[in-house]
Amino acid sequence: MGLATLPIHAYEAQILETVAQSAVSVLIGETGSGKTTQLSQMLHRAGYTNTGRIGVTQPRRVAAVSVARRVAFEMGVRVGEEVGYSIRFEDRTSSRTVIKYLTDGCLLRECLFDPELHQYSVIILDEAHERSLNTDILFGLLRRLLGKRKPELKVIVTSATLDGEKMSDFFFKCPIIRVPGKLFPVQIFYSKERPVSYVEASVQTAIDIHVREPPGDILLFMTGQDEIEKTLLKLEEEVRNLDEGSCMDAVILPLYGSLPPEMQARVFGKPPDNCRRIIVATNIAETSLTVDGVVYVIDPGLVKQRQYNPASGVDSLAVVPISRVQAIQRAGRAGRTRPGRCYRLYPEAAYEHELLAATVPEIQRSSLAGTVLHLKSLELPDINILEFDFLDPPSIEALEDALSQLYIVDAIDKTGSITALGKKMAELPLEPALARALLAAEELGCLDQALTIAAMLSCENIFYQAPRQGKEKKRPREEGKLPDGRGLGDHIQYLQIYDAWERHDFELEWCKENGLQIRSMKFARDVRRQLSQIMRKKKDGDPEPREVSRSRQKLGNARAIRQALCKGFGNRIAHRLPRHNAYRCIGHKSQLVQIHPSSCPLEVDEEGLLPEWVLYHEIISTTHPFIRHVCVVEGSWVEPFLTKIDNIDIQSLSGRKAVNSAKQCEDAKELPGEQSSSQQVGGSTS
Ligand code: ADP
Ligand code: MG
Repeated sequence: MGLATLPIHAYEAQILETVAQSAVSVLIGETGSGKTTQLSQMLHRAGYTNTGRIGVTQPRRVAAVSVARRVAFEMGVRVGEEVGYSIRFEDRTSSRTVIKYLTDGCLLRECLFDPELHQYSVIILDEAHERSLNTDILFGLLRRLLGKRKPELKVIVTSATLDGEKMSDFFFKCPIIRVPGKLFPVQIFYSKERPVSYVEASVQTAIDIHVREPPGDILLFMTGQDEIEKTLLKLEEEVRNLDEGSCMDAVILPLYGSLPPEMQARVFGKPPDNCRRIIVATNIAETSLTVDGVVYVIDPGLVKQRQYNPASGVDSLAVVPISRVQAIQRAGRAGRTRPGRCYRLYPEAAYEHELLAATVPEIQRSSLAGTVLHLKSLELPDINILEFDFLDPPSIEALEDALSQLYIVDAIDKTGSITALGKKMAELPLEPALARALLAAEELGCLDQALTIAAMLSCENIFYQAPRQGKEKKRPREEGKLPDGRGLGDHIQYLQIYDAWERHDFELEWCKENGLQIRSMKFARDVRRQLSQIMRKKKDGDPEPREVSRSRQKLGNARAIRQALCKGFGNRIAHRLPRHNAYRCIGHKSQLVQIHPSSCPLEVDEEGLLPEWVLYHEIISTTHPFIRHVCVVEGSWVEPFLTKIDNIDIQSLSGRKAVNSAKQCEDAKELPGEQSSSQQVGGSTS
């Protein structure tokens, strides 16, 4: 097809031979060497698809989609035919699909329904260097699968970084194939000090390069969509102000996960002649997606990263320094086609002494409730969750936090065994709290409403946000057109908004007029339909899924639905302080929080006080700890949770073993079963 050869092609014979001889292999190759797009095709050509599919996991949705498109194009087929993809809420595969790109979360879910993964002859755990939570769990599951049951399955782990030894050790010291990159030298420049504003500094650097340096595209790393949009505006203005004819033209392009596909295509399409592209990207361009033509990289050295604190329950989304591995990866993007340059907007001393050597794996900075529920539902024989084969174990504290959370919502019993309810929860493609709420709603006769709320919460941004000015975002509710949640909170407002949209026959124009993101609303409708099919199927065992009928319930004060939500979010309840409009969370260590300014206004009493009890979706820490997505609940609904929380016996939940760390539990195995302990999680410990 006239496609350029990539470094990996020279190793085709060696790769095929290694794979033939070993059940597991690790493949290490520079980003852009062809691991993601070529390996699957090589194995397909070698006949591995005669006995099953080749599944290639991706930590990011957008990468799964984009790469599947690329491979389909290279093979001259349409997406969904021989080459397809599967991401949560979207399956583009068919019976003809032999190469399937899927998110690691999707493959995890498939393990639930087919623990031996029969459809696959090969599984490629791609982008393993990213160390996403789900990929890490797949590591453990595939290791068990290989060891015990599936000799014909081939597993290949691919990584862009050089710590392949660790992965090889984990997989019984399997062979490592190294594909040397064809990297050209990249000259690194450091700033003397960290800039006051890295957005400003990045824009200035980009303009300097554009004016002074020879042709070649510029790749600029920013931390998120908002920042990218801000940077785009500034760059456009600066470029407009340049003297006509003083330099070549420039096109400025964004690249981030939730960018509409047609916009992404612009980045991968052929660049216009005689024109410099300035691509402003999130971390996604670090290793998952390769943009050709980049010669200059601007690296402010930052990344937006989630960090969950099991002690407080606070999930913070903070901008933090990247690791040295990441800095090296970013610089490498400049040297793919010819010698390049990387401008690090921080001093060399910071690189040497302040950056961590490697990124902390996601498993060590995430809430593990969903993961632990998943593992429990697989009912792996002889396994205690604390002893799972983790490449890097999470902290005991995080595991115990997950166990208590699951216990509170009835997903596991007090001995830590999964309940019937827990199994049903695990089958839903939702986080445990929402899954529980959906099941409760079914019993309380308001499934309909719960489906809508769950679908709306699955969208990234419902509200269209103009580039923001102030510190915290406010919703565009000023126009006064949208329903107000009746003072009961965001969930109820979401429900009202969706119902109003439905009353307007799902008109897209209506969304636009009301400041709603059309793409998100369409996504919500899609998710809703799928969730309702899943619920329907579970209920009737109906092979021909139909949608749950939409009974037009009167909303009233939405008691039933709020009660159902409360069942799911028993871990996430906050109590208002006496005579203050601040809240204290129950369950976790009494975190003090405020309601996020983006929340919809709650009803206040005569004294101007907010409702006494609310549930929340998450605590996020930006300038302060805030609770986001709140819903008013009643004290009497909360009561049972308070009792439960007070009586948690974590030793019993974790399988009656006193252990210090997941890997050190061997010595503890012999301890007698009955261990009483006074250690408690939650309550009023602080
Ligand atoms: P790796 O996984 O080793 O980082 P990839 O297989 O992703 O490498 O990329 C190999 C080559 O394929 C790169 O040169 C890249 O530019 C090209 N490529 C990948 N995806 C696309 C795409 N969507 N459009 C055009 N080229 C692509
Ligand atoms: Mg790749």
